[in-house]
Amino acid sequence: MYKDLDTSLRTIMTPGPVEAEPRVLRAMSTPILGQFDPEFTDIMNETMEMLRQLFQTDNQWAFPVDGTSRAGIEAVLCSIIEPGDRVLVPIYGRFGHLLTEIAERYGADVVTMDTTWGKVFDPQAVIQEMDKVKPKIVAMVHGETSTGCMQPLKEIGEACRQRDALFVVDAVASIGGAEVKVDEWKIDACIGGTQKCLSVPSGMAPITFNSRVESILLQRKKIERGLADPNAQQSRFTRMIRSNYFDLSQLMDYWSPARLNHHTEATTMLYALREGLRIVLDEGLEARFARHQLHEQALVEGIKAMGLELYGNPACKLPVVTCISIPEGVDGESVRSMLLEDFHIEIASSFGPLKGKIWRIGTMGYSCRKKNVLHVLGALEAVLIRHGAPVNAGKALQAALDVYHEAKSKAAL
Ligand SMILES: *Cc1c(COP(=O)(O)O)cnc(C)c1O
Repeated sequence: MYKDLDTSLRTIMTPGPVEAEPRVLRAMSTPILGQFDPEFTDIMNETMEMLRQLFQTDNQWAFPVDGTSRAGIEAVLCSIIEPGDRVLVPIYGRFGHLLTEIAERYGADVVTMDTTWGKVFDPQAVIQEMDKVKPKIVAMVHGETSTGCMQPLKEIGEACRQRDALFVVDAVASIGGAEVKVDEWKIDACIGGTQKCLSVPSGMAPITFNSRVESILLQRKKIERGLADPNAQQSRFTRMIRSNYFDLSQLMDYWSPARLNHHTEATTMLYALREGLRIVLDEGLEARFARHQLHEQALVEGIKAMGLELYGNPACKLPVVTCISIPEGVDGESVRSMLLEDFHIEIASSFGPLKGKIWRIGTMGYSCRKKNVLHVLGALEAVLIRHGAPVNAGKALQAALDVYHEAKSKAAL
């Protein structure tokens, strides 16, 4: 009575989920292993090793949390926040609000900073606010998919370390597509995403954290077991909302040689993540970031040549998301529907103050390739002409081809 699954083959140019790597999809049809099977625990260990390389860290702890990226964010925040802890969240888009909301739910005293959407923070402004607020934790987004902006983190990370604050970073959108240097930028806990620049389906959240975070987790575990002296902290602890699923200290026991049972590992998703990471490391991080920049440049030149305006400050542009102002009088949603129906291309709209004002085009992971960029530029031009928008017809693809041909001749030198 129900038909076979027969989904369309879309060109997905959104900020996620993006097209999955074909090799990843094949890995997902690998037979199931038991979660304590030595063959499977080898796969767990290899995944940890590859995640350390992805995050550019020597941290012992790098493993996926099962659930989507926000599961990783929640696991980190709920495992280190105690009621009343000061958390500073500088917000420059939608996902800063997510960090705020999660921190508040676990009883943090959250102080936020705001900047106009389309911009990022001057690190000095964040550091000044830290000196006023004296937070235990500073939580920030690296690549804001909602506004297409990327926040420089190194100075803020150094300032956190000097002031003994923990620096938690949501690098869900940037990991695997742009530089994320966990150790060098002094990030204490970092959360990545799968369905964005790794081109693995949604359903896991790779995280890493260092010994500063680990010592908090171990201290909490001790208190929980009644081993520590009763003190002020203990009374705060009894008021804490403690997640079982997201308890990082239990997850550490599961991802360490102790292999203490926690949840049943998502076998098939781990195969997918392992294969996705293998592809990233085979390509090489630097080569991969350069590829993302090349296709971004071709897209941007094409959009500009068409006569459209980019949204956001170019100085802080997130290389894997390009935001375009919707021209006056054009119905942005009608353009998106036509792209999907006639060209099988999906691009994104945005949220909150930017709803109806911009389109967002992702160039992430496997979706970030020449065929897709040329396809989206040609289709967007055709659809805009049909919507009566003033575009410089015939220019966009030529501008993008110029970028590709120039890169090719440079590479040949
Ligand atoms: C996509 C995204 C998330 C949320 O990821 P889910 O997998 O949907 O939970 C969080 N932060 C940023 C910056 C994102 O781009």
